[in-house]
Amino acid sequence: MSTNRRNFLKMSALSLGLSILDSNILAAKLANPTTLKSKGKMKLSFKAYDLILKHVFTVASNSRTTTPVVLTQIEYDGIIGYGEASMPPYLGESHESVLKFLNKIDLSNFNDPFRLDEILAYVDTIDTKNTAAKASIDIALHDLIGKLLKQPMYKIWGLSKENTPNTSFTIGIDTMDVVKEKTREAGNQFKVLKVKLGRDNDKEMIAAIRSVTDTPLCVDVNQGWKDKYMALDMINWLNEQKVLFVEQPMPKENLEDMAWLTQHSPLPTIADEFLQRVPDVKRAYQVYSGINIKLMKCTGMREAHKMIDIARALDMKVMIGCMTETSCAVSAAAQLSPLVDWADLDGNLLIKNDLYDGVKIIDGKVILNNKYGIGIIKNSTKIEN
Ligand SMILES: [Mg+2]
Repeated sequence: MSTNRRNFLKMSALSLGLSILDSNILAAKLANPTTLKSKGKMKLSFKAYDLILKHVFTVASNSRTTTPVVLTQIEYDGIIGYGEASMPPYLGESHESVLKFLNKIDLSNFNDPFRLDEILAYVDTIDTKNTAAKASIDIALHDLIGKLLKQPMYKIWGLSKENTPNTSFTIGIDTMDVVKEKTREAGNQFKVLKVKLGRDNDKEMIAAIRSVTDTPLCVDVNQGWKDKYMALDMINWLNEQKVLFVEQPMPKENLEDMAWLTQHSPLPTIADEFLQRVPDVKRAYQVYSGINIKLMKCTGMREAHKMIDIARALDMKVMIGCMTETSCAVSAAAQLSPLVDWADLDGNLLIKNDLYDGVKIIDGKVILNNKYGIGIIKNSTKIEN
């Protein structure tokens, strides 16, 4: 097949995917004529909140015991849609930056939450960054729309909850004895474990895990391998250790070596730090085998769905991940999980003070429920400004 012909087919598949995305929302809307009538204004409210981690989270540069989030809600016609922005420090957002951004949003020009394109395009123009803050609006709108249509979002998109993937669970960096103990515990509950590599004891870490379980692993190098030949040697070795894929093996700036590595690698390579939004998917094509989408990086569910469609049209693998966040944002991401190859949706399992009840992990698999919108119930009272 000629390159032009192949590109044409890919673009056709892409536009088909996008039109299905919207025609499903439209069809559901028409089936509920009451939603067609304007019911006044949307009211946005939000509140800063700190998630308390169950275990100290250690990366090379620092350790932390809390993660800042901002909880949003959009009220319309007496119904509330919930959203969330989660801001791990490395993304450069904070309580202050998100609150400042949300304070600039004026939804009074919109009286129809179904006009996602217009509302989200407006939100996107307020600032070039603030992807987590934008996601908190996107998620609340999707939750609201699902509730107005009385359907979960995955059903509105035409997806089946039987097709959800297993989620991985991350084994943190620690002494080898603690790693073994955590692995034993998690190996019984999860079908895939994730391990962070890119330090000087990578093989020792894998060997410790393999000494207690043969549960499939995925590895996240967080840009840690600097030399492509060394990286290929490691991947070849990992390929014999029941590893499914390798996330962000090399620095994100290094496209040439990364493309070489992907070409020679026996395992799929997945872009994480390399990409954020829709235009980045095309940049990742033929550099990585697949992409890791996170709502907080890409501005939310609508953009994430588009990225999945584009990646699929380009024959790329797709993974959906999360930050440390409540069941709100995790359940929102889970609505898309029937479309992906792998999920890394363990963020809500790492915190002590989750305010919502939503998606569950049972026998390692993402379990969607039949609740409307993003599938959550709030455990405590309405957020007060
Ligand atoms: Mg990663």
